[in-house]
Amino acid sequence: MARKVLIAGNWKMNLNHLEAIALVQKIAFALPEKYYAKVDVTVLPPFTDIRSVQTLTDGEKLSLTYGAQDVSPHESGAYTGDVSGAMLAKLGCSYVVVGHSERREYHAETDELVNKKVRAALKHGITPILCVGEKLEVREAGEHIQHTTTQLIEGLKGLKTEQVANVVVAYEPVWAIGTGKVATPADAEEVCKAIRETLREKYGDEIAGGVRVLYGGSAKANNVGDLVACENVDGALVGGASLDGEEFTKLCALA
Ligand code: PEP
Repeated sequence: MARKVLIAGNWKMNLNHLEAIALVQKIAFALPEKYYAKVDVTVLPPFTDIRSVQTLTDGEKLSLTYGAQDVSPHESGAYTGDVSGAMLAKLGCSYVVVGHSERREYHAETDELVNKKVRAALKHGITPILCVGEKLEVREAGEHIQHTTTQLIEGLKGLKTEQVANVVVAYEPVWAIGTGKVATPADAEEVCKAIRETLREKYGDEIAGGVRVLYGGSAKANNVGDLVACENVDGALVGGASLDGEEFTKLCALA
């Protein structure tokens, strides 16, 4: 089954709402609307920028979509600092990052919490980008496939088969994030293939053939082509390189 390439720019905790507008304008200027027939592009700004990005993309009727970097597992109530799936949906978010290694590390997010966040996103019609991937010591111990597919299984636990069709998976080896050490295409393909095989075992051919599996970790314009050329890599989750309009649009054009 043909899967459309997805390039997702994770801005992390960078850019205020004015800088966000400037960056989206640069992307819109550099990528003609016809480009989106081939590739989906989404930006994932901090919460504080989303309304500004929405106003711009709606006003200009852009095909560029946007999303968030986190979602609360709760519906509403006394959860200071949290942002709900309903709030993100109301702002027109298409995607939300769930289980990013920085949240697993700095906010002690467990697979159980990640699973609740995946459900919260799906409940509100938002596509979760479920991040999975191993730390260096796990890879060195040869346990990267087992580790990553366990995170995948736990993250999707209890979902109905048709819900899994609406999930994007991002394989992000922790040792490659923000380090400039990109995985080789062969390394990325090995794990993305194992992710797809796991999806096939649990949910069948149709789901496994349709779910997009991205690679993330120091993806740049000069390496994205070789990564996305891999049979089981359907795009990239891009951190650092998504903050530079020129580099990001070049990366999108080469994906
Ligand atoms: C990320 O944060 O998801 C990421 C892949 O970051 P970077 O591209 O900077 O490694």
